[in-house]
Formats: sequence, C-alpha cells, structure tokens
Amino acid sequence: MSSRGYRAEFDFELRVCQWAERAWPPGQDHDRPVIVARQLGTKRRRWDTIVLECDPDALRERAQFGARALDSDLLDVIPHAPAEWEYYRDALPDPGYPWRYVREAIHRGDDRGVLDVRKHGGQIEIRQKHAYPDWLERIIAIENKPDLDASAARRLAPQLERDVALGLADEVWVATAATGDLIEPALLEDLPVEAGILVIDPPAGDAEVAWHPRTLEPTNPGTRIRERPAGGDNDASAARFEYVDPAWKGRKRLEIAERAYGSGWRKYVDAMRSDCRHFGTRWTATGPIPSCGAKACHQTSSECCGSCPQFEPEPPTWRSKGWPLSGGPGKAVERVLDRRRRRHRFGLK
Ligand code: SF4
Repeated sequence: MSSRGYRAEFDFELRVCQWAERAWPPGQDHDRPVIVARQLGTKRRRWDTIVLECDPDALRERAQFGARALDSDLLDVIPHAPAEWEYYRDALPDPGYPWRYVREAIHRGDDRGVLDVRKHGGQIEIRQKHAYPDWLERIIAIENKPDLDASAARRLAPQLERDVALGLADEVWVATAATGDLIEPALLEDLPVEAGILVIDPPAGDAEVAWHPRTLEPTNPGTRIRERPAGGDNDASAARFEYVDPAWKGRKRLEIAERAYGSGWRKYVDAMRSDCRHFGTRWTATGPIPSCGAKACHQTSSECCGSCPQFEPEPPTWRSKGWPLSGGPGKAVERVLDRRRRRHRFGLK
C-alpha cells in the first residue's frame, strides 16, 4: 500500500475511534460508558478498533486499580485475592506455571499499590486492597476498511469468518467510508452475514448501520479455524478446526479489556515525534487529528518517527518562554489527549 493509502487508513481509524467514543452504540442512546482502543487482540488476531461496553459502577471501581493495565500475570492474582489475609498458595488457583512467577507478580502488585502483602510466620500472605470488579460487559470488534472494494472484501471475509467462529468478541463489524451511492457497495460484497456493516461519514463524524451484526456467544465454546482449503478443482484438502474453551475466551477477553483500559486509542501520539517543530493538530468534526506542517498531511505514527527526513526539533524557546506551559505545541497536544483519555475512565484521579 502507498504511504497515501496508509495515511488514509490511519486517519479513518482515528475518526472511527472518535465517533465510537462519542456515539456508540449506533442509533441508540449513548447511556453506557465505553472504552475505545485500537490495534488490540490476541497473538493471532489484532482488531483495528475495539469498543468495550462497561458497567458504569464497576468501571468506577476498576479505577481504584489505577490507569495502567493489569497484565496477564497480575490477572492471575488480583481478581482472586481474598478479603482477609491468607497464604498466597491457598488463596490463588494453581497457575499452571511455577509459583515463583506468581510471587513476582504479587510483589509487583504490592509495589503498584493494588494488593496488600505481608510476611507472616515465614510465609507470604496476601489480601485484596479492593475487590476486582466485573466491569466489562461486551467487546465489539471493528475492522476498518475505508475503501471496501471487491478485492479488499475477498481478503477480509476469511478473517471475519474466523472471528465469528471463535466468538471472542460479542459483535464483529466492518467500518467503511460512505460513498453516497443508493446501495453502499459494502452490502454487495461477499462478507459473512454475521458481521455488521457501519458506514462512516468521516468529515461529518457520523455513522449509519448498513447491516446489523449477529450477537455472538463469548461464553460458549468457540471454533478456531486452523486451515481452510482454497477450494476449486486443485484443492481437495479438508479444513482443520480446533475447539476453544470458554474459560480461555473469558480470560482473553479480560486481558484485552485491561490492555484497552490502559492504552485507549490515543496512545498513537506516544510513538510520534510530538517534539518536532512541524507537529501539529487539526480539529475535525470528531476531534483533534495529528497533522504535519512539513508534509501538509495527517501523518501516520510509523512515518512520524526519529528517522523521518523532515524531522526538526522544536526550538528551545518553545519549551521555556515562547509557550506558557512546559513544552511546545506537541506537548500541549499530548496533554489534551491524555486528559480526554482519562475522562472516559470514570473515577480515575
Ligand atoms: S516532519 Fe516528520 S517527524 Fe516532523 S511532524 Fe512531520 S512526519 Fe512527524
């Protein structure tokens, strides 16, 4: 794909995230809190946009554990920590790996202030600081394809079929840019009927449902499609599947949710050169989008990096006298994005 194509996809992805944060679920009241993140999933599958529908009270309780994600090792400890002091091996389920790694996670939890830990009679005892809440209600996975032509649909369809068969998310969607045609071309493509189709109008920051998805069953066993024959006269091989345990799915969903809570979708700016004098931001109908003055475009995070040939450090005066706050315009953008990220995590201080 050309750099122009990557920029268009990145720009579209940010607008989908902005819209989802403001208006999810489409066509209904936006009365439940949502957490939006991008480029998250499992080792095998990464979704472009993820929307977490959350229980409002439980989300506030989740904030007691801080803004950072609880990683998978901490998730083996924190949700199982007892209300009263207990020897850690009696309190926690067998992790299936050496206990020394659990001890390491216990000490990290102590350092982060999310777990009470003491030595008692030569043994490590633990106690919950707060009960870990059941804050995640649903996971919505969105694949962004601004130009969903026939060849893009052919590439996307097998991925969506895998998502539907596995049922890790509650709903799977494709987001595509509005064309203004009477029938959106995406509806004519051969996509799985279980996947919803969202038609986004990027300049207006609106979206319409062109096709409603089927609700999947994350609490049921899933099917992982390992191999799918191409079919046709020259391929008579059988497809290979494996069943996926609901417990694995539940655990993966929580890991994904925690990572989404920690990162959100605005973290892209951390990977950009916001200290470049050309770094700026443009306000669109849906919110701020990063822009590059030197390239006169919305740059991607992969091109806005240290090796960018047009990178120029911001003048030192921007960090001292020229700007009222520490750092230049790039730092100001980072602060705005961080404030907005925290605003959607109820209860975070
Ligand atoms: S010139 Fe390069 S480093 Fe500077 S803002 Fe533009 S893309 Fe980023």
